[in-house]
Amino acid sequence: MSNLSFSELEKQYVQFQKNICGKIGESVISEYASTLEKDIYYPLNDLVLKTGRGTTQIDQVIVSKFGIFVVEVKNINGLIRGNINQPKWICQPFNRKPYQFYNPLHQNVLHARTIKRLLDISQKKLISMIVFIGGVFDSAPDNIISSDNYLSYIRSYNNRLITDEEVKAFVKIIIDNQLSPKDHQEYISQINKKLASGEIVPKCPRCNKKMIRRIAKQGPRKGKPFWGCSSFPSCRGTVNIKTEEEKVKEEIQAFFRLFDI
Ligand SMILES: [Zn+2]
Repeated sequence: MSNLSFSELEKQYVQFQKNICGKIGESVISEYASTLEKDIYYPLNDLVLKTGRGTTQIDQVIVSKFGIFVVEVKNINGLIRGNINQPKWICQPFNRKPYQFYNPLHQNVLHARTIKRLLDISQKKLISMIVFIGGVFDSAPDNIISSDNYLSYIRSYNNRLITDEEVKAFVKIIIDNQLSPKDHQEYISQINKKLASGEIVPKCPRCNKKMIRRIAKQGPRKGKPFWGCSSFPSCRGTVNIKTEEEKVKEEIQAFFRLFDI
């Protein structure tokens, strides 16, 4: 793999992802969901929705009279340790080094909040659930479900919370507000253009003032762009700007971790 040029690697990665990644994980769960009672549960898979700060991708939302399930799917192999409060969890694969990943419960809070705002509903009507395909827990926190228990967990909610009219209206609102993959790409490239042209600038993580795009003059990121605080040198807040190459490399690493290969 090391002999490949960067663009070749990127091409292979994209192809790989299309061929394999798309077929497992989320699609397993969408298959399962298709066996739920059709007049009660309305599964919507792989949604991209606008949030206050950008966009978010949600693996699955199931609208039903018993509540709205917001589902995050994790395809991980190994022994997993983590609790509700820890920002990062640890996975110990069976034959490789352990690694950390973001607490999926925290990730799903943003997803649930996006749905809550979009539908203008109370928290009570939302059920956040994380489904693990593979992966073994020492002791799993609540609403962490293995894929074997996915259907029974959903069916265990049986108090009516939402009227039939609302169910229909909610499905329509979500469908109307989702971005197609093409729209999503366009939206991201628009944001990137605006960032590059200085039309929009991030705020300093330390003092909340505007930031200025600069080029690192020294250090390991020499020659690479970053955001620096406009009140430098009194504030030294910075935000790195990831190059396209760095982004793809990270994705490739995450991808290989996913399959434990
Ligand atoms: Zn600052």
